[in-house]
Amino acid sequence: MKRIRSAYATRFRQLLAPLHPRRMDKALHWFSTRAEELSREKRILLPVAFHQVHEITQRKIQTYVRHRTNPGDYPDQPVFWCDAGLGGLARWLRAAGYDAHWEYGIDDAELLRRADKIKAVVLTTDSGMMERGVLRDGHLRSLWLPPALHIPEQLAAAFAEFHLERRASRCSTCGGKLLETAKEQLKEEIPPKTYLWLDKFWRCERCGKLFWNGTHWRKVQQELETLRAV
Ligand SMILES: [Zn+2]
Repeated sequence: MKRIRSAYATRFRQLLAPLHPRRMDKALHWFSTRAEELSREKRILLPVAFHQVHEITQRKIQTYVRHRTNPGDYPDQPVFWCDAGLGGLARWLRAAGYDAHWEYGIDDAELLRRADKIKAVVLTTDSGMMERGVLRDGHLRSLWLPPALHIPEQLAAAFAEFHLERRASRCSTCGGKLLETAKEQLKEEIPPKTYLWLDKFWRCERCGKLFWNGTHWRKVQQELETLRAV
């Protein structure tokens, strides 16, 4: 029986790991108690009860994880707030399809206040920032990135931590959504050669900036492709 308990403790631990429970030991104890109750109530063998509790939990977690990571469920989530040193990462997150805020020289208290207002995920290289109450207590989600990481590595870390998938790019300047716009309406705003060669144009719904598939855009998209390999 001891072997079965310890085998199930391992399986429950693996099941819960993606949810980062604060008190793993408490959660494992709960499972074990629940299995014992089930065994008594339904008069089934304890290993069978463990199996059933495991199955039920697995289904619940799968639903939760799918729900959490399905881009269709929360099309605008997660929104990120990048600390003063992560302006580059903010631009890459936007190219990868996520709304990411960044402001030059903003102080920690103000950043946290604004992140709290929109329930943004805080990304920071500053371990001192992680000690602030709202982050330490998990009131706001956050990720500390070691200062030595390069931008693609920072991006890969954020993708892994929050189970992100690439989406349609957003405005690299402000993170607003890009709306495809009829070419004819833009004649005055586009260089004549570009107007001649290209047909697809997008406008940021937030700041109004125009985008098209220029060389810079292609380079960004190619760089993002490397994320697939991570
Ligand atoms: Zn914009």
